[in-house]
Amino acid sequence: MRTYAPLTIVCDGCLSNLRKSLSAPKVESPSCFVGLILENCDLPHSNHGHVILGDPSPILFYPISSTEVSCLVDVPGTKVPSIASDSPTTAQCFYGRSREGKHQKMQNKSMAANPVPTPGAILLGDAFNMRHPLTGGGMTVALSDIVLLRDRLRPIRDLHDAPALCNYLESFYTLRKPVSSTINTLAGALYKVFCASPDPARQEMREACFGYLSFGGVCSYGPVSLLSGLNPQPMHLHYHKTEL
Ligand SMILES: Cc1cc2nc3c(=O)[nH]c(=O)nc-3n(C[C@H](O)[C@H](O)[C@H](O)COP(=O)(O)OP(=O)(O)OC[C@H]3O[C@@H](n4cnc5c(N)ncnc54)[C@H](O)[C@@H]3O)c2cc1C
Repeated sequence: MRTYAPLTIVCDGCLSNLRKSLSAPKVESPSCFVGLILENCDLPHSNHGHVILGDPSPILFYPISSTEVSCLVDVPGTKVPSIASDSPTTAQCFYGRSREGKHQKMQNKSMAANPVPTPGAILLGDAFNMRHPLTGGGMTVALSDIVLLRDRLRPIRDLHDAPALCNYLESFYTLRKPVSSTINTLAGALYKVFCASPDPARQEMREACFGYLSFGGVCSYGPVSLLSGLNPQPMHLHYHKTEL
């Protein structure tokens, strides 16, 4: 005997093998993270995340417990370079330091939401939409989608009413855009700006962005409140871009 659910929510993460049935995904792999847990080391600003503007790309440090700091080194490209390669890279220096420790590698992925509305099923989380993890937006978008979907489904009395369900699900895709597109756009833009480049214009942009954030006040909490989903307004994204 087979039993079918009236609504199946698919949330099988970044390596989802079900997303192809419910969307037309175009997955990009801009870089890898090589990560290491550092023990008993102090960060310059306790209880804060730190982004080091390295070359070729940023390095993240953030506390994950009272004694441990997570360090994530971004390595641009679709593959983590081999330690045996000739030219030294951030990853190799990192490997050198972490030879005794345990490091982990993870491919970073980016994927715009491109749903194929399907009666009785919906995608959520990284299976549905991904952005570079530099700015930590993944859970914010996923949780915001969950709250929105809950609110959309609340008035439906009968989940077997397929046409009504379909209408509600289609409006979900429209209503999620202000939050998701603000966080996704800023994550992608900041990652590009924070990567080193031989192009003088890109170098100037990186310094200008650093300078803008260093002003503090609205120049700092404005972008942070956009990234954290506290103020997910695309117009404010435009405002900060113009000011920069
Ligand atoms: C290094 C790194 C740092 C990050 N830092 C942040 C951060 O600071 N803040 C933030 O908001 N986001 C962050 N993110 C992003 C965040 O982790 C993801 O966006 C979020 O975990 C997505 O949640 P999810 O439930 O969609 O997927 P996942 O958390 O990947 O969960 C999917 C689950 O589905 C399970 N699964 C897979 N296939 C099946 C199956 N067939 N049947 C049953 N179960 C299955 C998996 O085992 C897994 O448990 C980071 C990501 C990375 C890579």
